[in-house]
Amino acid sequence: MFSFVKRYLRKRYLARHPISDTIWQQVIALPLFTGLSAAEKGQLREQAAWFLHKKSITAIDGLEVTPGMRVLLAAQAVLPVLNLGFDAYDDWHEIILYPGLFRTRDRYTDHFGLVHEREQILAGQARSNGPVLLSWADVAESAWLEGWNVVIHEFAHKLDMRSGDPNGDPPLHKGMSAAAWKRAFSNAYHHLVMLADRGEYSPIDLYAAENPAECFAVFSEYFFETPHAIADHYPAVYEQLKQFYKQDPLARLPRVRYRPAFEPVSYGPVVQLPAVAGWA
Ligand SMILES: [Zn+2]
Repeated sequence: MFSFVKRYLRKRYLARHPISDTIWQQVIALPLFTGLSAAEKGQLREQAAWFLHKKSITAIDGLEVTPGMRVLLAAQAVLPVLNLGFDAYDDWHEIILYPGLFRTRDRYTDHFGLVHEREQILAGQARSNGPVLLSWADVAESAWLEGWNVVIHEFAHKLDMRSGDPNGDPPLHKGMSAAAWKRAFSNAYHHLVMLADRGEYSPIDLYAAENPAECFAVFSEYFFETPHAIADHYPAVYEQLKQFYKQDPLARLPRVRYRPAFEPVSYGPVVQLPAVAGWA
């Protein structure tokens, strides 16, 4: 009964607050959404409208957020959960949007239990039990099938955090094999760590070799942007992500040149944030 009422209220809201045609046509024409069927595009449009209803976007440092900017952000954010259901994003509420890269000071605990503080300049950050922070400049440059996408990266961390601290081990769906997931990702991760140690060419951004949480988030970016890079070199990881996201971007996207290094396109001021615990 409750889910029936929930569905009814959602349907009523969406009917009354659709994303405008003009904005939607501009957003859906971006390369990231290539190959989606008409039904999938319709579903994405509804999910994006619902996302904007359920999540608050707080603009920082004088950034003015237009309706078009909101839709571009939302459409990218809901692509990973298109077939998972919106519930996958239920446990957080806010996005903080900066004009460009921002500076954070974070505390983290190392393997020996020692607490450290570090400063980082970031394009995005997903906070455990907290908001997602994003640089608008990078959000705007993300949907171009170049192998990096800050929105998908940070929201992959949020999916990972559904089972606690981010560790590359998100809750899997019924029928998925935890052993197959672990085997595929740990083989890929150790291979990337080896390439990083040797300074060798990697088809995948070596930020994935930082830790298993980043490995999952970076592979998620490639999955939606340049899936051929994963399918060519880490087919077992592609198979696991296909099951996890319940999508097959390989079947819908063109093969594009993949970019071996992470080169965020960013500009705008760097903003100082207070220190927090929990980061990804
Ligand atoms: Zn990350």
